[in-house]
Amino acid sequence: MTVTLDLTRKTLTDAALPNLAGLTRPALAQALIESGAVRPDKAKMRATQLWRWIHHYGVTRFDDMTDVAKETRAELALAFRLDRPEIVERQVSKDGTRKWLIRMAPGIEVETVYIPDVGRAGALCVSSQVGCTLNCTFCHTGTQALVRNLTAAEIVAQVQVARDDLGEWPSPKADRLLTNIVFMGMGEPLYNLDSVADAIDIISDGEGIAISRRRITVSTSGVLPELEPLGRRTQAGLAISLHATHDDLRNVLVPINKKYPIAELMAAIRAYPGLSNAKRVTFEYVMLKGVNDSPAEALALVRLLKGIPSKINLIPFNPWPGTDYVCSDWKTIEAFAAILNRAGYASPIRTPRGRDILAACGQLKSESEKLRASARRKLAQAEVGDEAESAPSDD
Ligand code: SAH
Ligand code: SF4
Repeated sequence: MTVTLDLTRKTLTDAALPNLAGLTRPALAQALIESGAVRPDKAKMRATQLWRWIHHYGVTRFDDMTDVAKETRAELALAFRLDRPEIVERQVSKDGTRKWLIRMAPGIEVETVYIPDVGRAGALCVSSQVGCTLNCTFCHTGTQALVRNLTAAEIVAQVQVARDDLGEWPSPKADRLLTNIVFMGMGEPLYNLDSVADAIDIISDGEGIAISRRRITVSTSGVLPELEPLGRRTQAGLAISLHATHDDLRNVLVPINKKYPIAELMAAIRAYPGLSNAKRVTFEYVMLKGVNDSPAEALALVRLLKGIPSKINLIPFNPWPGTDYVCSDWKTIEAFAAILNRAGYASPIRTPRGRDILAACGQLKSESEKLRASARRKLAQAEVGDEAESAPSDD
């Protein structure tokens, strides 16, 4: 990153200043040097000091860094920002799930979901892209065009926003509410691996947010060439959106399968760095009525995963407007799960969480966009003719 700043005057508006809260440690030291606010021989020490304030204490103002000299704080404030992105909407489900709609920049909005009682204590489901280029036919995000990749800073900001809301600063050593991170929000993380890997470096740093790499899981539709780099660079847990046991069906459900068919995908998964019984791959399998939910397919799944240290997550399909798919009947899901249980896979059904606030798998973003658009229309109507109450409503 190259930052050229004239510190004698504030030459950039605040919004254009680089934000230190999303930089990796080396990038942070480099930015300090390039800004001229810190002498090169002091940069490493200063970066360590700032790192603790930003990622352990969660401060968002340089003035709160009480062991940094006042003049240095002032210089830093002229050269950099530390603030959070804007929270457009915050919702809490009756099951305790929390969802934030976060505006990273104009037109760049993502949703992040905190799910209590998942993982060790609670998991944060983060987004890696706005929209998705892949078109899995059962996924609502897949119907939206890709707007852009998120930066590492924007991924880390989702964790910081959740930590703010959960009141988890300074970074607690024990009894945390947020213990796990899953890259299962919007987008395909392996099409944005550089930023995902940088974000994981920041999130897992022991002197900061300190969520261990063992508790971070990246879910992918199967971008095969990026699996090994993902494991090598992040040591994160791997989740694979499998959803079908034979190519004919997977080609339809997860079209990237035409490029990377099941047999090749399985070979790449077996080679995933660090795989062991203590570090298993999670296979996600969405339950679609009459499509992939037969007992024969459950048996085929068991055969396919043979020899791979794995867990299975059956995800009841979350419907969305316009989809032709229907969620499998509960009895069918249980029968499917029973076959997996007999093969040694414990509790594989993922209970849908936060459905009442549209926070469940595959419901992210587009739905709330629709609701907000409708709310906006109402507001506009109210402003022009105060006729909002009689206006047709689609929410
Ligand atoms: N793009 C990545 C991660 C985001 S999707 C991936 O595909 O793995 C996270 C999970 O939600 C994936 O397993 C995805 O297949 C699943 N999913 C998508 N739409 C869904 C829906 N409508 N109902 C249930 N699960 C869904
Ligand atoms: Fe993209 Fe994942 Fe949805 Fe497929 S399931 S369209 S890869 S977000």
